[in-house]
Amino acid sequence: MDSPLVAAIEAGGTKFVCAVGTGPEDIEEARFPTTLPEETIARSIEFFNEAQERRGNVESIGIGTFGPADVDPKSPTFGHIKKTPKANWSGTDLASPIRESLGNVPLAFETDVNAAAWGERKWGAAESLNDLIYITVGTGIGGGAVSDGKIVHGTSHPEMGHLRVPRDKSIDPFDGCCPFHGDCLEGLASGTALKERWSEDPAKIPADHPAWELESSYLADAIINITLTLSPERFVLGGGVMDQDHLFPMIRERVTERLAGYIEVPDPEKFIVPPGLGPQAGVLGSLALAQDMLK
Ligand code: ZN
Repeated sequence: MDSPLVAAIEAGGTKFVCAVGTGPEDIEEARFPTTLPEETIARSIEFFNEAQERRGNVESIGIGTFGPADVDPKSPTFGHIKKTPKANWSGTDLASPIRESLGNVPLAFETDVNAAAWGERKWGAAESLNDLIYITVGTGIGGGAVSDGKIVHGTSHPEMGHLRVPRDKSIDPFDGCCPFHGDCLEGLASGTALKERWSEDPAKIPADHPAWELESSYLADAIINITLTLSPERFVLGGGVMDQDHLFPMIRERVTERLAGYIEVPDPEKFIVPPGLGPQAGVLGSLALAQDMLK
């Protein structure tokens, strides 16, 4: 059976990725910076209009967005961005104008990291797994979870980027950069934190720099906390900071060491992995969510 043609958006804090397609082998994308809401939404609509002229109408849309966002379909503000530190975006109705421009097709609205987890489960490094976590370590840190084959929601969506992790001030005197919590995980281990702590672009910090000891330590502690809470089969770690491949063995080693045999990790190399879909995890996950709306 042919997969339906659908629309997808990975709405990031710094860039939007809009796409039309049927799957990883057939996807047409446009990437542009996230500017003012009206301008960014208009640009997305323009892309979809042009794509539909070429390919015909899409049957649904999936949006994976930066947060916090209202992902509860029963809420009157479903599809809106909530109060966010990102200037001008608090309270923006992201979903409605785009959905309306597509003829009110069915809509899936999720966090970018939940969408990425879903994409990795469908086509990527966690194919067919029912319990997995996707964490992005970039400008900020976010985590998405699939548990028992379903995307995890509570009263809102998980916010694993703001977990508390132990900080030894004698080793790391940096107070952290989260505007809400200071030294939460994002405040200590995001790309922004690396940049502020070491006064250097993380992409330029050499592999043997002490920055990575600390970075892998914080990420390992977060992974341990999540493992103890949700018992996932696999962690997929993406985002710009994780492009530093040498971090993977460092994190795996610390996780195994600190779990201290209490929970066995049979094969650390399969437990903590890079995304199979690379930087397309979020947009392909949104596409998969759009297709699921038609089932
Ligand atoms: Zn925080």
